[in-house]
Amino acid sequence: MVWGMSEMKEERVYQGIAAAPGVAHGPAFLSVRSDLDIPKRLVPRERREEEISRFEQGLLTTRQQITQIRAEIEERLGEDEAAIFDAHQMVLEDRALIEETIKEVAETGYNIEFCFQQVAYRYIEAFSNIDDEYIRERAADIRDVTRRVIFNLMGRRESDLDMLVEPSVLVADDLHPSDTTHMARGRVLGIISEQGGRTGHSVIMARSLNVPCVVGLPQITNAIAADDQALVDGFDGIVIVNPSEQTLYRYGRLRSARADIERRFNEAKFAEASTTDDCRFAIQLNIEGNEPEDLLKNSGATGVGLFRTEALFLSSREFPNEEAQFRAYRRVVEQMAPHPVTIRTLDLGGDKNPHNSLYGYQEANPFMGFRAIRFCLENPKVFKEQLRAILRASAYGKVKVMYPMIASCEEVVAANKLVEECKDELRREGQAFDEKIACGAMIETPSAAVITDLLAQHCDFFSIGTNDLVQYLLAVDRVNDRIAHLYEPAHPAVIRALNFIFEAGREHEVPVSVCGELAGDPLYVPLLLGMGASELSMTWSCVPEVKYLIREMTYRDAKRLAMRVIRAGSAPEVNELLRDFYSRTVSIKMPQA
Ligand code: PEP
Ligand code: MG
Repeated sequence: MVWGMSEMKEERVYQGIAAAPGVAHGPAFLSVRSDLDIPKRLVPRERREEEISRFEQGLLTTRQQITQIRAEIEERLGEDEAAIFDAHQMVLEDRALIEETIKEVAETGYNIEFCFQQVAYRYIEAFSNIDDEYIRERAADIRDVTRRVIFNLMGRRESDLDMLVEPSVLVADDLHPSDTTHMARGRVLGIISEQGGRTGHSVIMARSLNVPCVVGLPQITNAIAADDQALVDGFDGIVIVNPSEQTLYRYGRLRSARADIERRFNEAKFAEASTTDDCRFAIQLNIEGNEPEDLLKNSGATGVGLFRTEALFLSSREFPNEEAQFRAYRRVVEQMAPHPVTIRTLDLGGDKNPHNSLYGYQEANPFMGFRAIRFCLENPKVFKEQLRAILRASAYGKVKVMYPMIASCEEVVAANKLVEECKDELRREGQAFDEKIACGAMIETPSAAVITDLLAQHCDFFSIGTNDLVQYLLAVDRVNDRIAHLYEPAHPAVIRALNFIFEAGREHEVPVSVCGELAGDPLYVPLLLGMGASELSMTWSCVPEVKYLIREMTYRDAKRLAMRVIRAGSAPEVNELLRDFYSRTVSIKMPQA
């Protein structure tokens, strides 16, 4: 296989965290978005005019860049998306902002980058504090434009993902959920990120789009240059810069060996997920709602266990209205019929934080902040629009409503009350919906886990969000690579919590499914089923292997495994039991590069 030549440069190997499987190779595309270190220096009086000319040149260059981006976006995404950049041009032409900056140079004597930032931030601060969505959006525009201008003034080029034209390996300091748009367009072959853990939201999206990804490589954006080639090994968390022909050959062979294994897994894709002792389980999908029809229909899954609705909100500058949401939900419901679709209500916040000002909050601890159900209950207008859209979609197939980040019974009661209000409204309007629609809660906070029995009185089902549950139980931020080694789902605290939730569900006859990343992890599948999971919901790419595994094992053995794991006193012990079960059940040896 010829993957391109890069013999001229020295090969370098970096070990990071494997975040999304697969191997990709291509030119590096650098994207650095962390805050710039803006220099602050006094400029002698006789050179201040020069600062002003630099400023004018910087504004001009920025204007030209924005015009170019606007044209590209208009061609690819249409006029509506492109119009965002008109607002940016307006900021660049804002006389008050420009004149105040020039005055700042004259009065303080500091360099133009510093003065422009000071003035722009005063505007941003003033706008952000005004309780008006439109004005807050202007603050976001100014922030974006300021950044661009300062990059230009400093002679640095910000790699703008909008400019990504050639299929490339994205090398970023951090990933943002809206980057998926670029992944979906097929221009991102693979991802290397300085920050992030395996369960960061952007990483989950990369996995769902089958984009190989390695995270947790601090300083990698400084180590890779724009004209380097990069190879991403998302199986083993390895990044190879300027791989030699020999390395490319080795990886070519690895790819074909993995392809053989995947062919075997794929044979199980459309078969029933039933164990050799005849216990059947539902394998469902985690989706964002922007997946192509083909993927939904041909994944081999029987339903959607987690429809993350944030993508709809993150890709837009305004909250999508009821009609737009209804259309999006109905499309998925119709495509998945007769299988059920569990639609999770808005889970904004945490790492699902829009670039734009929809949400409009900066918090010190976003994962423990004004997130998900907390935001929805304080914004009943937004929440009810979504609930109405979900209810209306329930007339077209089997739909369930799921609340994220539940931490108390009161939250479920309040959400259920709003569902009832929406039902009343729809009845009055003569709109069809499923009167018996099931409403359930995610169990992803320690408080919800501890009161699962109490929550059972208000919920038709539970779904365990292991991504958050693990981070909160262990107090380990799920996107912080510095402590990624402490994010350990095999920790006895996690195992005990999971067991407690399943037991409470069983006792109160409320079915418990799992939709966090553990549900698609072949090591954890036997354990979760053995503990009592009724359904597992995962990224589509995990379905074949999970089905293959289930079809090779007995439920009896899975229950026995669960009993042993619950008694285990440490994470290494748990890991060994899980690995041992997997390798005894799936007698395929995974090749290493
Ligand atoms: C989870 O927390 O496990 C989950 C499924 O939700 P998200 O990853 O979207 O926070
Ligand atoms: Mg969660």
